[in-house]
Amino acid sequence: MTNPVVAIVGRPNVGKSTIFNRIAGERISIVEDVPGVTRDRIYSSGEWLNHKFHIIDTGGIDIGDEPLLVQIRQQAEVAIDEADVIIFMTNGRDGVTAADEEVAKMLHRSNKPVVLAVNKIDNPDMRDLIYDFYVLGFGEPYPISGAHGTGLGDLLDAVVRHFPKREPNDYEEDVIKFCLIGRPNVGKSSLVNAILGEERVIVSDIAGTTRDAVDTTFTREGQEYVIIDTAGMRKRGKIYENTEKYSVLRALKAIERSDVVLVVLNAEEGIIEQDKKIAGYAHEAGRGVIIVVNKWDAVEKDDKTLIEFERKIRDHFQFLDYAPILFVSAKTKQRLHKLLPLIQTVSENHAMRVQTNVLNEVIMDAIAMNPTPTHNGQRLKIYYVTQVAVKPPTFVVFVNDPELMHFSYERFLENRIRDAFGFEGTPIKLIARPRK
Ligand code: GDP
Ligand code: GDP
Repeated sequence: MTNPVVAIVGRPNVGKSTIFNRIAGERISIVEDVPGVTRDRIYSSGEWLNHKFHIIDTGGIDIGDEPLLVQIRQQAEVAIDEADVIIFMTNGRDGVTAADEEVAKMLHRSNKPVVLAVNKIDNPDMRDLIYDFYVLGFGEPYPISGAHGTGLGDLLDAVVRHFPKREPNDYEEDVIKFCLIGRPNVGKSSLVNAILGEERVIVSDIAGTTRDAVDTTFTREGQEYVIIDTAGMRKRGKIYENTEKYSVLRALKAIERSDVVLVVLNAEEGIIEQDKKIAGYAHEAGRGVIIVVNKWDAVEKDDKTLIEFERKIRDHFQFLDYAPILFVSAKTKQRLHKLLPLIQTVSENHAMRVQTNVLNEVIMDAIAMNPTPTHNGQRLKIYYVTQVAVKPPTFVVFVNDPELMHFSYERFLENRIRDAFGFEGTPIKLIARPRK
């Protein structure tokens, strides 16, 4: 399930970032643990009446030294491309300006749902100022005050009413959904084309959904796959395409809709900070992960090159120690035939359910081999383990006192479970609970 995206557009100084901050409130960071993104005030998440959503302040997009009108136009373009619902913000004190009319024209052409907000209506006497704004053609204007926070409830009610009712990505349960993420130029589009061009791959459908995502459905040896959200790879040349913020937002959306995420690296360039950030999202989302090192053809190799590269990856991506690594070339097709079978295996592992009795035998053997830790004279006691969820596999460990479950012991148990059942490619979660 992915959360809808709301974008705020409008001229400078109408109060976009003020409202953005009010809506985002405490939730100003969407991915708390990821450095660099946390301080990003351009997008965040919000919640209203149990509806969670992402929110973008298009005013924060840095478009460079273009004339004002060009900037506003480009920001509106981002909103139209990325958002499910657009908040079009104006300033009641200025009345309708030529720039407002310009934005209105673009938004009308887009067919996206638009909610018109008239800001800086700081007291009830000023309400009459909203009537001029009917001329923009978006129906009832919503009076708000960023300064006082008034009117936001009605505005958000209207926004939430426009949220898509059903996700377009509801594929059958046995279809494997995967996406490719990575920085620009690592070869994501080339890999997609190479996969689809493989013999025995039958492409059935390239569907544009209501969210502008372009999903590609295909079958190989009886297994159906969907490549999620390659829209970002197809829509080349847009002004914001290479601004990291928007590729991040798009990657997050694709990850949310996938079972398996291919983290694509460029063998020629090695690993940089941005790769780690991107991989962090996949891990945190609890998806199956495969690390794909592309452009292997372009690297000068001796018999140690692969091992060394692998070691470097393990060093940099310690949190992805469960992810298999595949060295490929989209250009020469080297090892590419291994990719789909690996995606299938990881997807199966991600959805694997193990037998409770076998699971408990494994855990009891583990305890016998490596006794539970003690703390302040108290010993951790493990009574029983049960798998409570899949995607990712999640286990509840019933214990005397969860505080006694030390991180390192948890890791030990996780590794025993991995050794016994083979959960390659998927994170697994252990949750310690007191036995009632
Ligand atoms: P943006 O450029 O559209 O993001 O606008 P800002 O949020 O930066 O706001 C521009 C200016 O308008 C700031 O000085 C805000 O304090 C002020 N402002 C924002 N909302 C209101 C409001 O509801 N009433 C009044 N009087 N001022 C506001
Ligand atoms: P994306 O931005 O991640 O989608 O990357 P592209 O698929 O557009 O590829 C970026 C560039 O890398 C293009 O010039 C490709 O021809 C090149 N490229 C992609 N895969 C390979 C590969 O396996 N080997 C080599 N040598 N070049 C590649």
